[in-house]
Order: sequence, then C-alpha cells, then structure tokens
Amino acid sequence: MLLFLSGFSTVEIRKPGGMVFVEYGLSDRGHALTHRPRKRFGQNFLHDPSVVSEILAAIDPKRHEHLVEIGPGTGALTDPLLSRCDCLDVIEIDRDLAAHLKIRFSVSANLNVVCADVLNVRLTDFRKCNEALRIIGNLPYNISTPLLFHLLEQQSCIQDMHFMLQKEVVDRICAEPGSKAFGRLSIMLQFLCEAEKLFEVSSNSFRPAPKVSSAVVRLTPRSFPEYPVDVDAFKTLVGQAFSRRRKTLRNALKGYLSPEEIASTGVNPSARAETVDIAGFARLSDLYFEKKSRCAC
Ligand code: SAM
Repeated sequence: MLLFLSGFSTVEIRKPGGMVFVEYGLSDRGHALTHRPRKRFGQNFLHDPSVVSEILAAIDPKRHEHLVEIGPGTGALTDPLLSRCDCLDVIEIDRDLAAHLKIRFSVSANLNVVCADVLNVRLTDFRKCNEALRIIGNLPYNISTPLLFHLLEQQSCIQDMHFMLQKEVVDRICAEPGSKAFGRLSIMLQFLCEAEKLFEVSSNSFRPAPKVSSAVVRLTPRSFPEYPVDVDAFKTLVGQAFSRRRKTLRNALKGYLSPEEIASTGVNPSARAETVDIAGFARLSDLYFEKKSRCAC
C-alpha cells in the first residue's frame, strides 16, 4: 500500500542521459514515489505552495459545490480542493497517476477519480441533480484550445471555470479588438463567457519547468447571450474571417457576404477581421444567416 505524506515537496531528478523524474511523495516504507513526466500529456507539475494558495483563493470553493478537476496529475490542487468541498470529480488520462490518486485518496468518499481522456467525457454524466459544475484545471497546453471548445459545447451545465493555461493563450482569450492577440479564440470565448485574466505564473513554479509562462483565467459562461445570433452562422462567419487573417473582410468573406452587404452592417469591408468587435461580427452573422435562410427557401 502507498501512503502519501502531505507537505512533501516535489523534487525533480535528472538521471544520467537526461531522463527527468519527479519525486512527489513517500510510500509507507519511506521510499520516494517517482513519476517520469510524459511530454505527450503536457505534464508539468505545480509545486509552488503560494501559487496553489492563490488559485484556491480565486476559486474560493464552498462545501456544497460540485467541482470537477481536469488533469489532477500528482494532486497539487486536488489535495487542498478536497479539504474544502464535499464533491470532487477528477479526470486524469495517465493510468499510473490515476491509479496512484485512487490509492492515495481511497478513504475520501467525496472524491471520484476517472481515468479518461477529458475530450471523450460528457460533463452531464457527473451531475447528480442538475447542479452547475465548477471546472478547474492546470491544463495540458497541447490540448487547451480543443478542450476549451469541447467544454463550451457543454456550458449550460457549468457555473465557472478556472484554468491555468499558457500565458499567450490567456492573453488571446482576453484580447481586445484591434490588438495583435485578438482572434477567433477571443471572439468565441468572449461571446460565450465573461473572461478574466487573474494572474501570471512563472515557469519556475512547475517541475519540470515548461519553456513558456503561464497565467490563470476565470471563464464564466453567460446565462443569456449578449448577442442573440444563430450560433452556427456566427461560428462559420468568424472562422471564415480569421481563416485568412491578413486579408481584408471583402476578400476573406468572398462567397459569404458581398462588400456592399458587409458595409450595410456598418463594418468596413476593407478592414481586417482582427479590428472588428463582437457586436460587428454579430451584425455580419445576422445578415449571413438571413441570406442563407432566403437562399434555402
Ligand atoms: N494538476 C496537476 C498540477 O497542477 O500539478 C497536473 C497538471 S499537468 C500540466 C496536466 C495534467 O493533465 C497531467 O496530469 C496530464 O496527465 C493530464 N492530462 C493531459 N491530457 C489529458 C486529457 N486529454 N484528459 C485528462 N487529463 C489529461
């Protein structure tokens, strides 16, 4: 049986030949528990207690709330979350880590460890009585964008999400129109959620240290859409406009809307997509939806 000693600081060990391991606990016999971080799963484990505290303070979990953690890894966030809430589900793709979490928290009736790829998981399966879920995760950077879109498809069952992501991705999510970072991710996320960048985290707070900086973002799904557009038409138009980012809208939207039609919504057809705000895209999308519906008759 494994016994995890809480308070054990994660240690990085470099073996001859460059192999990296992390030590993250002790067995009942006092042997170090080691794990070789898997790059393909984006494994950079948080070890900085001040960052853990800051994340916990931002989430501020309440006893009765239902939390879901994506990618618990060696449990840096799981442990303190578990002590503050009565219902926590964790989804971990790595079989070794999931097995260890099951043993380590075997006495915790309020924790459910699921070994699965989160991209194949439906959040509704976790709900007990239609409660809104709070989602948390220090996310694997390699799947962060598809994962965000996967979660947003299920946003009706989400209260809020707190994620550690690559800083550049957080900057793109929260970007303002006209800035370099503003793009499809900013529009789709801000259309569906309120997005708030909370704080940045240095790469030294992880073992092994990633090559990029990180930041924590809070995403709160909007109960009512700010712009009541047809979502499919909106997605199509935004996707098309940014698929040729360097082109003007008149060129990027060829076959979708004519320059005259674009101008009729108050958007300049000679502008580039990154200068158009969400309201502008909503007007373009309404016109495109109307045109498509007329053609279908
Ligand atoms: N939460 C831990 C921490 O803060 O130290 C680990 C964070 S690490 C950046 C990302 C974690 O997500 C790893 O444990 C990894 O195995 C897991 N992971 C990667 N891809 C996943 C997927 N598709 N589904 C579920 N978990 C995944």
